[in-house]
Amino acid sequence: MLQRSPGRLPDLVVPRRYQVELTVDPERPHFSGEVVIEVELRRPTPRILLHARDLRLHTVAWRRGDQTIEGRPAAQAPEGASTEEGEVCLDFPERLPPGPATLCLTWEGTYAQLSGLYRVRHGGRWYAFTQFEAADARRCLPCFDEPGLKVPFSLALTIPSDLDAFANTPERARDVQGAYARIEFEETPPLPTYLLAFCVGTFATVRCPGSTDVPMRLIVPEGLEGMTGFAREALPPLVETLESYFGRPYPYEKLDLVAVPEFAMGAMENAGLVTFREELLLADPKTLDEARRRRIAEVMAHELAHQWFGNLVTMAWWDDLWLNEAFATWMAAKAVDAWRPELAQRLELFLQRPRVVATDALPSARCIRQPVQTVGEAEQAFDALTYEKGALVLEMIERWIGEDAFRRGVRAYLDAHAWGNARAEDLFGALDAASQEDVSGLIRTFLDQPGLPEVVLSQEGTTVTLEQRPYRLLGLTPPAGEGARWRIPVEVEGRRVLLAGQRAQVEVDRLCPHPNLGEYGYYRYRTDAEWMGCLAERKDLGARERSGLLENAWAQVAAGAAPPSAFVDLLERFRGEIARSIVERLCDGVGHLQATWQLEEDGRFAALVAHLLLPTFERLGFDAAAEEPADHRVVRSLVLLPLGSFARAPDVVEGAVERARAYLKDPSRVSPDVARACLAIAARVGAVDLASLRALLARASDPSVRLAALSGLAALPGAGRRRALDLVLTGEVRAQDFRTLFLTGLHVAETRRISFEWLAEHFEALRATQPEFTFIHLPLVLGWCTSEPERDRVRALFEAARIPGAERAIRQGVERSTHRIALRRFGASDLEQRLEATR
Ligand SMILES: [Zn+2]
Repeated sequence: MLQRSPGRLPDLVVPRRYQVELTVDPERPHFSGEVVIEVELRRPTPRILLHARDLRLHTVAWRRGDQTIEGRPAAQAPEGASTEEGEVCLDFPERLPPGPATLCLTWEGTYAQLSGLYRVRHGGRWYAFTQFEAADARRCLPCFDEPGLKVPFSLALTIPSDLDAFANTPERARDVQGAYARIEFEETPPLPTYLLAFCVGTFATVRCPGSTDVPMRLIVPEGLEGMTGFAREALPPLVETLESYFGRPYPYEKLDLVAVPEFAMGAMENAGLVTFREELLLADPKTLDEARRRRIAEVMAHELAHQWFGNLVTMAWWDDLWLNEAFATWMAAKAVDAWRPELAQRLELFLQRPRVVATDALPSARCIRQPVQTVGEAEQAFDALTYEKGALVLEMIERWIGEDAFRRGVRAYLDAHAWGNARAEDLFGALDAASQEDVSGLIRTFLDQPGLPEVVLSQEGTTVTLEQRPYRLLGLTPPAGEGARWRIPVEVEGRRVLLAGQRAQVEVDRLCPHPNLGEYGYYRYRTDAEWMGCLAERKDLGARERSGLLENAWAQVAAGAAPPSAFVDLLERFRGEIARSIVERLCDGVGHLQATWQLEEDGRFAALVAHLLLPTFERLGFDAAAEEPADHRVVRSLVLLPLGSFARAPDVVEGAVERARAYLKDPSRVSPDVARACLAIAARVGAVDLASLRALLARASDPSVRLAALSGLAALPGAGRRRALDLVLTGEVRAQDFRTLFLTGLHVAETRRISFEWLAEHFEALRATQPEFTFIHLPLVLGWCTSEPERDRVRALFEAARIPGAERAIRQGVERSTHRIALRRFGASDLEQRLEATR
């Protein structure tokens, strides 16, 4: 048996440095490589375990001085080795002595599917890209593929001489020999394997003038250099903002941002060579909408924040992935708002909270920090709990101890662990020291147990009693048991209190104070209906509090504590509002009602949606006014879709169809903010067909146009939906866009039926087009099912597919559906009466 911690390589061999030589010609189906790894053997051993996945190892040797011992990959893996995790055992004919040595390996590999080293044919040309996080460096080179093993890498690439290549560090030398060129890159500072990256292809590079000394460039497939304007404008100020927050310069020698035409993730923070989906980096100013403008800025800021948090200081193991992701998500919001306050990214993070709670309140919710023992478990961890819950908890802590103390703690943490690894405790300790508060004790209750608290408030005279308990969704047991406790920073209007025990009392000076002033506390509040009504009346509360009221009101319905009619009453009080934070909750509310009670064919529901949202739309109209606030452009895009698809408001549908037709002729003629919704509405009512959307997609080099075409394709009804999904199998829709297409519209019963049938028919063919990551998260679609038979059918499909790592998503999907079915029964007659009364 091998001595090891679960999921980790034995600590017998410690890598110190890699020299990697790769020959990559993206036109050919294979690549080859050789690596020299300087290692330290801790004990004598005849075998070494490392990672290599789908690589054919040719030669294996151990060397010290002029002594060489040839080894070979073991024909049979030893007991305890995990071949399905990509572990390979190297056998040597004798015991290798302890101490320093080099391991030399050569191999041939096949390109993987949007992970590891993969190739893409785009615009008639071949490219190769890498995506190594979490555990796919092993698909490119044999290595010790763990985040705690951080060492320098030297890379040299041999590529066709008419192509170009970029990597983490600047080019050091280039040697052209006939049809091939060998490019050597500078040695990297210490990096974990998951942050290595390179790309090969025909690129245009656009320099980005900045005020720092670091050379910054955008690297894009040739022909797209005209779409780099917004990213070039955003990059230098975002880097500067981060440098000043962290009190440290950007850590690497250069900074390249690469647009990747096929990319499974949104973006990836590889040190010095950050990769992005095209639509998260490139934009034509004529077709760029406000929501995507904010999203590009946010994703850029997120990946840039990682250069310090994640890259300079790296989590020791995947159980602390949240350290990377929660922090980068939180920091991105701060950096974007510092650069362009009108983008309001911190508000956006807050508006994500209901989506987070929808996962966090499930019995299968995991802790933000959770043991990781397999690759599948590491891949699962990339979810809303790691990113947004973690970010919301950090924001709550920052609010509690103050911005200055928080920043001091962060800087001390970076100083102490620069170029190395750290664990969550290291950050907590730094925050404790900087704030002189017990941050560790507080944050652990949110990180190390799943779920979230509900704070129940009651008031007698000037005394408010607070009581905490786990928040639960109707039909489900909460993830944290009944005895679970949190240490909750509660801000009752006028009073701050740390609710550490079961209950507490505070004195206030007003009736019905706001139960979570600023809405920075990660908790649900519950009060009686009168108190809620009193809060709804108040116009002096801020955007976050008013939006939070709608969020909490739905949370009470979802808990089975209030009837849906009371929620509809509350929505009515906010009709006609044009603040994004309110309108988003109004649209969500309408969406909850439709998806749970399947009201898409109900004329009374259509009337309700029109009643709630038309006044907002009438204030804004289809087309942006000059000097209009950014917020209004987003709001317009929010209300259009429910008005067009649920309310079927004639003026809205007519206007949308007219604009969709104009867009098909010339995308720049339609206001970018409404384009996607107009195409979706027009497709749904049959006013634009599959052929015209395919033609639009085929000629779309602009990411905005591609997204608009996808939006139309996803909305096609009946057979059109089926044929649109077929385009993923033929490659007409990019593999990376499958999720966008498939996940759209599943709240509508008919679309769901067609989509699930299609999935069952084409499951294996689809799998061949997608990275494993897609299938690890896809079973969440079970959550839309509104009956047991429907749910069980789809569940059987996923279970039969036996996707490693998908177990959690299956459980989550089933639980969401169980909740939805319970809620459907609970509210049915009440909602029926409410809809009748509106008639
Ligand atoms: Zn990230």
